[in-house]
Amino acid sequence: MYDLIVVGGGPAGLTATIYALRKRLNVLMVSKDLGGKTQWNLALPWISDYQVIRGLEVVNKFKSELEYLDFARHMEAVEKITQDGDIFVVHTHGGGELQARAVIIATGTKQMTLKVPGEREFMMKGMCYSALSYAPLFIDRTTIVVGEGDLAMRSAAELSTIAQQVYVVCANDKALHTPMGEKVSSSPNVKILMGYEVAEIKGDDYARGIALKDPAGTLSELAADAIFIEKALIPNTQIVAGLVDMDEEGRIRVDCSCRTNIPGILAAGDATSGFAEQVLIAVGEGAKAALSAYEYLLPRL
Ligand SMILES: Cc1cc2nc3c(=O)[nH]c(=O)nc-3n(C[C@H](O)[C@H](O)[C@H](O)COP(=O)(O)OP(=O)(O)OC[C@H]3O[C@@H](n4cnc5c(N)ncnc54)[C@H](O)[C@@H]3O)c2cc1C
Repeated sequence: MYDLIVVGGGPAGLTATIYALRKRLNVLMVSKDLGGKTQWNLALPWISDYQVIRGLEVVNKFKSELEYLDFARHMEAVEKITQDGDIFVVHTHGGGELQARAVIIATGTKQMTLKVPGEREFMMKGMCYSALSYAPLFIDRTTIVVGEGDLAMRSAAELSTIAQQVYVVCANDKALHTPMGEKVSSSPNVKILMGYEVAEIKGDDYARGIALKDPAGTLSELAADAIFIEKALIPNTQIVAGLVDMDEEGRIRVDCSCRTNIPGILAAGDATSGFAEQVLIAVGEGAKAALSAYEYLLPRL
């Protein structure tokens, strides 16, 4: 029986685990990998590493500590988490059952992909899924945003304040009738390509543009300095579906101490309803969730 199990090895999960170790909790991190999405870094021909805030120094420090402390990590996917009285049972992919008095969910999100030719080849080479992280690098550049929801409108709105030209490739106009959508449609440097579809991502060493299909099915090409696929971020929270409260997008609802509605289950990072997907935020939330778990566990230790 563990005091605490942390599910997820991204910035939130790594930080939570290290904090819990410092508090001398009997903690186990269960994850598919170490590092999570910090392994994804957008490469651009005109950008040097110092221009981007990646938070990698702290994440890599925690990661190498956990590589060394093998008793505190278990590399396997979690299938689901159940509750048995005051105890939580973490069911792993291979059929294992791990028990703990408290659990932190730090499983992040996965981005909806386009599944078109060139997407895999140019992923993180001029094409990526996080305008929030990289928009400030596009001063006077041309960018393409693909998507039709709030995420796409937010990304296009931010880029429109920085880039010279923003193209928005969207299947429908639903999100255009929101305040963010109205800002996007009224920006002079934004062109909305309504009803168009991306047929292919094109480039050389980096993505340089897209092949587009218009509503009549005619193909054309559009050049850009970067392409942002902003269709949706899907929280990896199925493992606690039905157990904790979630918002309409499947993010785990947490209070400002990273507590869910179930005492003993905490959550941190992109998988939660907290604001903004960024490494430093996930690191901070991981620390907060670990300290919150400690407060919960202290009378029970
Ligand atoms: C393309 C891209 C580029 C980005 N660039 C930047 C940047 O430059 N700067 C920045 O600040 N932010 C950036 N971000 C955002 C940042 O990566 C995330 O906000 C951050 O990684 C979130 O941390 P997390 O720990 O919550 O989740 P993640 O990093 O997503 O980690 C989730 C962890 O949970 C594990 N996991 C998931 N499901 C299971 C399961 N069922 N069982 C076991 N383990 C599981 C995963 O293997 C992973 O280890 C970028 C995001 C993307 C998509």
